[in-house]
Amino acid sequence: MTDTGSSIDFASTRPRHERPYDNVVQTIGWTPLIRLNRTAEGIRTPVYAKAEFMNPGGSLKDRIGPAIIEAAEREGRLLPGGTVVEGTSGNTGVGLALAAAIKGYRCIFTLSDKFSQEKVRLLKAFGAEVIVTSAALAPDHPDNYVNLAKRIAEETPNAILADQFYNQANPEAHYRTTGPEIWEQTGGRVTHFVSAAGTGGNLTGVGRFLKERNPAVRIVGGDPEGSILKRYFDTGEKGEAAPFKVEGIGQDKIPGTLDMSVVDEWRTVDDRTALSLARRLTREEGLFAGGSSGLIAHVALQVAQEVDDPDACVVFVLCDTGERYLSKVYSDDWMRENRMMDPARVSAEDVVRGKSAGAPPQLISVAPETPVRQALAFITSHNVSQLPVVSAGDCVGHVSESTLMGRVLENTAVLEQSVQHVMDAPLPVVDGHVELPSVTRLLSKNPAVLVRRGGRLEGIVTRYDVMRYVTNEA
Ligand code: PMP
Repeated sequence: MTDTGSSIDFASTRPRHERPYDNVVQTIGWTPLIRLNRTAEGIRTPVYAKAEFMNPGGSLKDRIGPAIIEAAEREGRLLPGGTVVEGTSGNTGVGLALAAAIKGYRCIFTLSDKFSQEKVRLLKAFGAEVIVTSAALAPDHPDNYVNLAKRIAEETPNAILADQFYNQANPEAHYRTTGPEIWEQTGGRVTHFVSAAGTGGNLTGVGRFLKERNPAVRIVGGDPEGSILKRYFDTGEKGEAAPFKVEGIGQDKIPGTLDMSVVDEWRTVDDRTALSLARRLTREEGLFAGGSSGLIAHVALQVAQEVDDPDACVVFVLCDTGERYLSKVYSDDWMRENRMMDPARVSAEDVVRGKSAGAPPQLISVAPETPVRQALAFITSHNVSQLPVVSAGDCVGHVSESTLMGRVLENTAVLEQSVQHVMDAPLPVVDGHVELPSVTRLLSKNPAVLVRRGGRLEGIVTRYDVMRYVTNEA
């Protein structure tokens, strides 16, 4: 394991796939452990990500698809030409579809409409039949996507329900593969393993294996705010679940594939924290993963900070690829609409774009020669409080309604003068990618800040705009 991420050392570290494989299923697993660098700045404990998005189907669920299908074949429950049915958030579907494609089985998947469109398209790309049902249906409703899958499996000849929430082939796949890989990749030095639970297969299988090797390894589960798992673990009471945005983890029931006895501790994380860390992992580490990975990474970093020991070794799971969330976690519009944007990470350009609701932003300005009368009319007709005075693409001054009015009241002849004779100092200009805290600092001393993009003045940000943005009214 390396101590620093500052050297990339690409040529000597490429993975070795030394021989050809017979099929893509054989390439599942042996995903790399990758150290966090920039997001772990100031944390002495090394934190390693198990990059499950590097599996051929893009998630940790690639491991359980073939395992479930092969277990059903061994038990004689699945015969040639058979059908695999599952209620899935998408990733399990891909894992099953990969194996089914090679073996020639038909797949039928049911999904709730909470999940992203990309996931539905993805499953269809693998040739699966997909049925989408409402996420609002209670767990015991017959058309809830899990119950619907069960019914289809019962009514279809030569069909199995993959049953990831109860099928022990799921945790076993992680016990046989993910756990041993982490043990070997860390040379047995892993001290903390952090994951979360959808089915609990990953947490249970890896946790069980690592604890067998070394009972001192601490197993920590991340739980979305609104899920019942932490509360159930702490108090034995299930309580009411509430909706959350992170996909694939958190529960409103206790799955049969989750063995709470291997978990030492659960920690709750809110959506905004989880999703903003997912975005940072992409931007600062080049690790492009989904929201559940952001949630787990947050817990891993928290644990590493508290442990504060360079000899400890925290390993966590990056569950699936960020490509599955381009229209959600990685869409600024979606993040804004769902109040998920972290104000510290918002850029000046985000605020400008937010004001124009997706349309190309337009900066309303006047030339130095514009008469004051016309500038005042402009201020009223565009319903703005101030106007930048722009000459040859640069801000040379600004005028505001209140100062112009004051000057006109003192002497009405000012109305016919050009604004260059009465204007105040130029407004500060920032680059579009400058983040909100810097913009706010400038706004404490200036009425507005201009935003430049590609060499052009693109927009203006006032205190009012920032307020509207952070309270999500833009
Ligand atoms: N993250 C994502 C995106 C998932 O789809 C899942 C599984 N549904 C998990 C995490 C959790 O994995 P497990 O089911 O093994 O608990």
